[in-house]
Amino acid sequence: MLDIRIETTTTPKELPKADNPLKFGTIFTDHMFVMNYETGKGWHDARIVPYQPISLEPSAMVFHYGQEMFEGLKAYKAEDGRVLLFRPDKNIERANKTNRRICIPEIPDEDFLQALKAIVKMDEAWIPTKQGTSLYIRPFIIATDPFLGVRPADTYLFIIILSPVGAYYPEGLNPVKIWIEDEYVRAVKGGIGEAKTGGNYVASLKSQVKAHEEGYSQVLWLDGVERKYIEEVGAMNIFFKINGTIVTPKLNGSILPGVTRDSVINLCKTWGLPVEERRVSIDEIYEAHKSGTLEEVFGTGTAAVISPVGQLRWEDHIMKVKDGGIGEYSQKFYDTITGIQLGRLEDKFNWTV
Ligand code: PMP
Repeated sequence: MLDIRIETTTTPKELPKADNPLKFGTIFTDHMFVMNYETGKGWHDARIVPYQPISLEPSAMVFHYGQEMFEGLKAYKAEDGRVLLFRPDKNIERANKTNRRICIPEIPDEDFLQALKAIVKMDEAWIPTKQGTSLYIRPFIIATDPFLGVRPADTYLFIIILSPVGAYYPEGLNPVKIWIEDEYVRAVKGGIGEAKTGGNYVASLKSQVKAHEEGYSQVLWLDGVERKYIEEVGAMNIFFKINGTIVTPKLNGSILPGVTRDSVINLCKTWGLPVEERRVSIDEIYEAHKSGTLEEVFGTGTAAVISPVGQLRWEDHIMKVKDGGIGEYSQKFYDTITGIQLGRLEDKFNWTV
């Protein structure tokens, strides 16, 4: 149990107006959670303080070798006024898995959850209530030793910041165009692909820029060895409906284990919808598209929950899915998961906290 010291801001910011579109990741709340780590002392000095810049030495290790991790989840205001977190235990589990992979000291699960609840409660007034909006929660840890040698750090900062975010699709689900990257790769077997750490995202930037220039919104990554098997999208896992079966790449060490991905798989199982986690080659998808059995494609992730894919581009092939429209299951998964997140549907899985 953390003993959290609280320092309330003396200069509260104005809450965003009701018509503010709350562009993702641009507005931050009044407070942040902070906790320090030092070898020998462990995690200590848990506190909630006014949101403010942090001061680090230019030699701080995070700036040089990228020892940092982050997470992303959301808090929602239910219609009955409750504040709900969606499966925070999964994010905490993933956070500590990331920590183990990149030699950051773990945070006890119950302390992590306590910190999440405390900071969200502190800035509860910032949770937007308009349809589709939420409070995005960004926990992260950085290595702070002022040292230029390459080794795991002895000191860290764990910080949680909050950002009210608008509806990803203000007018309802909107199919996206996806660029299948066949030159660069995001992650390799034995690497850090399944960890949520900055290095994976910087590796993705060049392809993302190229995809944007070509009019595509995100990149779909192929495996790092043969560029043959499908891995995931820039910030989403990927699902296909092929001939009545929901198929998604099996977690293999280089794919981020998404919380939304896990939720979709669980829903398939309870609905009696055939679901397979296995290797999926790009050739299989191309052939399925040619033969007319590629019925739906969608991405899953915290930001948009479900993103129907209307078009895939692989080399010179342009594959239209559902004539660029929204698949029946994309809509059904979206309605069910957002319904549970908002406390509108019965939460049979006990996903909300
Ligand atoms: N893959 C990557 C690379 C991501 O950044 C994300 C977003 N966290 C996801 C998948 C989806 O994960 P989740 O459903 O937990 O948001």
